[in-house]
Amino acid sequence: MADDLLDLARAAQGACPCGATHAMRTREIYIGEDWTARLTALARELGAGGVTLVADERTFEAAGRDAERALGQEFPVKTVLLRGRELHADAESIGKVLLGVSERTKLLVAVGSGTVNDTTRFVAHRVKTPYLVVGTAPSMDGYASSVSPVLEEGMKITYEAVHPEAVLASPRVLCAAPRAMVAAGLGDMLGKYTALMDWKLSSLLTGEPFCQRIAGLMRQAVEICRQNAAGLAARTPEAVTELTRGLTLSGLAMQMMGNSRPASGCEHHLSHFWEMRQLQRGQGASLHGDKVGVATLLIVEFAHRFFAKKRPLKPVDRQAWERRMRAAYGDLADGFLARNPLDREEATSTQEQYDRLLAHWTELKSQADALWESREEMLRMLAESGGPVHPDQVGVRPEDVRDALLCAWLLRPRFTLLKLAFDLGVLEEIVDEMLA
Ligand SMILES: [Zn+2]
Ligand SMILES: [Zn+2]
Repeated sequence: MADDLLDLARAAQGACPCGATHAMRTREIYIGEDWTARLTALARELGAGGVTLVADERTFEAAGRDAERALGQEFPVKTVLLRGRELHADAESIGKVLLGVSERTKLLVAVGSGTVNDTTRFVAHRVKTPYLVVGTAPSMDGYASSVSPVLEEGMKITYEAVHPEAVLASPRVLCAAPRAMVAAGLGDMLGKYTALMDWKLSSLLTGEPFCQRIAGLMRQAVEICRQNAAGLAARTPEAVTELTRGLTLSGLAMQMMGNSRPASGCEHHLSHFWEMRQLQRGQGASLHGDKVGVATLLIVEFAHRFFAKKRPLKPVDRQAWERRMRAAYGDLADGFLARNPLDREEATSTQEQYDRLLAHWTELKSQADALWESREEMLRMLAESGGPVHPDQVGVRPEDVRDALLCAWLLRPRFTLLKLAFDLGVLEEIVDEMLA
């Protein structure tokens, strides 16, 4: 059933009018109940000697034990169990997985979703060993991606890593995932609407390469999820399986683009900012996809207000903004300001961006208007699937909303609507309107 997914992605392969050559390296997506047999067969194809299997306590129970048993019939298996409630892909979990790798290890198998996957992918890249993923929850779109966000001294840094050779999942296991993780997957997918808007904006205003094929693939991925949103509330196996397909396709799109641009825009920056702040506070983190869903609704409103009136270019008081950034980032301010300075230059000057914005105003505004019109539907889909729609439902305080809208663009050197609004000197004015 998942072959068509690979076919969709394969159709976008090769030399592309966007100037890039897209390659999909993941060889198989399998979502079905025969997954342990497929896992063993793939391990054989990949010439596995020793296998290092990585799981956390919950995912080990969900599918790790079955994977270990199946692989153990043919290969020596070393299982690394990441323990604790608040796991992150960080030095500790990476070190732990590295300790579980020896000269005999010829294959890594990640059983789990976010952290387990990010950690294993990072290590697989560093030790130059292929890896497979067994997904246990449709909570995020990173299964097929080839980058790893790693938490380093409070900062989430995205590292180049490696694609999985295959992604496997059992609909039964996916359906048994906590309800919140299903809703989070939908939230992560709705974020693609604003991510695609940011990508288009950047291509028109700064000349960043934009790929119609990959964007089309991403739209298909979102559409698969949107059509199945109603079934997510009841967690029908069909709807949960389709959501997983959509999420995996999104990961493939990132893999083929070679970066997360098609899947991540300023809605993700808000989510990362909130996560960072919750960590600083020692507050329990909420799910990535939940925060992305909530952030997407805010960005849709921001875009609506941005395009509601043409504003003149205004000078930016960088000293005042530096004080604000320092206050918003606390101890982490130096790190982020060094990586992404306030006077960061884009490929085009602010004046050029402004001129191009006016030249493409109608096209960009109609994109923002369409999103604004679908905002109610997004809200309903999230609410029906059991996901949060309001910042306080994901532990985000009113000051976090304001600080994220004003300052989250500093997290990544990526051109987005929030960065544009900053450069044009109108960011604070629009945020004030929104939060009035
Ligand atoms: Zn995401
Ligand atoms: Zn392309």
